[in-house]
Amino acid sequence: MTTHRAKQKIVVVGAGVVGLTSALALLRRGTYSVTVVGTHLPGDFASTYTSPWAGANWWPVSRADTREAEWDTQTFRELWRLANTVPAAGIAVRECHIYKRNKDAGGIITDWIDSLLSDEPWFRELAPGFRKLEKAELPKGVDSGTTFSSVCINPAIFLPYVLGECLQLGATVRRGTLRHIAEAAGMHAEGKADVVVNCTGLMAGKLGGVMDEKVIPARGQIVVVRNEAPTMMTISGTDDGPEESTYIMMRPNGGGTVIGGSYEKGNFETAVDPNLTQRIMKRAIELCPELVKPGQGVEGLDVIKTYAGLRPFRIGGVRLEKEVIDDVVVVHNYGAGGFGYQASYGMAEYAARLVDEQSPVEKANL
Ligand SMILES: Cc1cc2nc3c(=O)[nH]c(=O)nc-3n(C[C@H](O)[C@H](O)[C@H](O)COP(=O)(O)OP(=O)(O)OC[C@H]3O[C@@H](n4cnc5c(N)ncnc54)[C@H](O)[C@@H]3O)c2cc1C
Repeated sequence: MTTHRAKQKIVVVGAGVVGLTSALALLRRGTYSVTVVGTHLPGDFASTYTSPWAGANWWPVSRADTREAEWDTQTFRELWRLANTVPAAGIAVRECHIYKRNKDAGGIITDWIDSLLSDEPWFRELAPGFRKLEKAELPKGVDSGTTFSSVCINPAIFLPYVLGECLQLGATVRRGTLRHIAEAAGMHAEGKADVVVNCTGLMAGKLGGVMDEKVIPARGQIVVVRNEAPTMMTISGTDDGPEESTYIMMRPNGGGTVIGGSYEKGNFETAVDPNLTQRIMKRAIELCPELVKPGQGVEGLDVIKTYAGLRPFRIGGVRLEKEVIDDVVVVHNYGAGGFGYQASYGMAEYAARLVDEQSPVEKANL
């Protein structure tokens, strides 16, 4: 005789890239009924909703042999598959050039992207076409560099795409703002939830029952232009200030070319600094003259918009663990800083396994 067990009820709080991929990982198991709740949903733009502001690409900053490297690896495989087989996902394969100046060693930007800058990074077997650049291939002032193929994501297409995948698998989506994480248990479409998955990003620092003081913004100011760039590229530092960086990535499907940037920890300011905008544009043209016509400067950039996004950085790393709060089982999945897209599917799978541990079958086997 076959017994049909009722699906476990899960509420995922947050509809950024982390919440949506977490919901998808749960729904793909077929054993969960999932409601997604968010103050903001795909289509919205708000300072406390980081995902729409991202580049976004896959440039790992994780260290070798860590769980973060595992998440990046799993995510790369999924993003690569989507880029090559699912045009509706809004992801494209791009060649990358990563440049290093020895004088930047020890700086804020170099520390942030240290793994990416390595001549022999852990992902050299994973990223197709990885090799060191020849001296003749390096721009002026650059000491060394690498090249490989990776992916670039257009968030305006990708976020609705993942949301659509969730809906296709039966998810319910609700708009709502929680004052306390335990309230989420009462927001499932079919009754009290068995597990709540907390994917509130930067707001995990302010949400009742969580109030994680380790969560801070890492501000990133960028300019999106209509000009096209031949490859994605970045460099280890700038001469303009320790928190300023230079990177360029052309989003697929008309999403514009993102030129950045900055990495300002603890800075909540979302108003654009116009002087920083000028420096960002000037540096981008120096690194990638092909962005504009020969002889042109920043006036050759056709700006779509300029903005500052707040990466949900967490001191000590991502919080991916289970906790019981006011009798509600909560799986936390937040604090992805500048790598929420590139680690998303891996983090989501890890979170889903923590939820699996709560299922009656798994618990009986413990
Ligand atoms: C300029 C810039 C460039 C970036 N480039 C890249 C890149 O190239 N590659 C990469 O991997 N990453 C990149 N990032 C980082 C990436 O954007 C983040 O890591 C990612 O978006 C974090 O996603 P999240 O789902 O955790 O948070 P968010 O996208 O902020 O989503 C949080 C969700 O929680 C909801 N929420 C919060 N509080 C509550 C509440 N109390 N009640 C209900 N709902 C709530 C919000 O409404 C929202 O739906 C970049 C970021 C910036 C700013």
